[in-house]
Amino acid sequence: MPTLTNLFLDVLYPPSCCSCDAEIPSGSPFCSVCALSLYAIEYCCKQCGIPYEQESFAPCRRCLKEPPLMASLMAPFLFGGELANAIRHLKYRRRLDVARSLAPLFAPSLQQAAHDADVIIPIPLHKKRRVTRGFNQTALLLKAACRLLDTPPKTDKLSLRRVKNTIPQTQTQTRTMRNQNMNQAFAVHPHRTDYIKNNVILLIDDIATTGATMNAAAQALLNAGASAVHGLCLARSDG
Ligand SMILES: [Zn+2]
Ligand SMILES: [Zn+2]
Repeated sequence: MPTLTNLFLDVLYPPSCCSCDAEIPSGSPFCSVCALSLYAIEYCCKQCGIPYEQESFAPCRRCLKEPPLMASLMAPFLFGGELANAIRHLKYRRRLDVARSLAPLFAPSLQQAAHDADVIIPIPLHKKRRVTRGFNQTALLLKAACRLLDTPPKTDKLSLRRVKNTIPQTQTQTRTMRNQNMNQAFAVHPHRTDYIKNNVILLIDDIATTGATMNAAAQALLNAGASAVHGLCLARSDG
């Protein structure tokens, strides 16, 4: 049911496709052409979220060789196509409305994942990057998705900090470089360990490339006494 505020906003700013800007009916993030490039991940490795072609409960070869710290990582969509373009618009062109438009794609997975979590934490940006960008796109997406849920879960933006100003993971060439870049990138605020200790944490990110960012954050949370850390992102790359 559209609210009066939403109807007013639709008149003021006609809804447009998150990728190509074509005018579209309210309620869908993409025009019918761009929507064709969306790929919903149906089956994946439960530990790292890498897409599978068919259902399997066995971990992937990479997770068998080097088990991740995360108890699980899930993403509803494959990273790429117009979804990747929409996330770029949000992050680098300050299209903050994209967070609200993409929220319906994320909310169902959030509702499911939030069910067993005590604390939900969006991956923080380093203070310097937050100042340059002006906002944390993951926190915006999470906030917008929470609003769509009947019982919005509580989120925690204070306990986890990014203490190392890493280079963007997209600029790193290899998996080893990604892991090194993320090494000790996060820390739990010393005054907030009580919020983490013995709790099940759900970490949220916009994109997971290899899961290295999530794993580095998980390391800090497990060091602070978290009983388990799960991850959920909007889009997961298949590499
Ligand atoms: Zn479009
Ligand atoms: Zn895996």
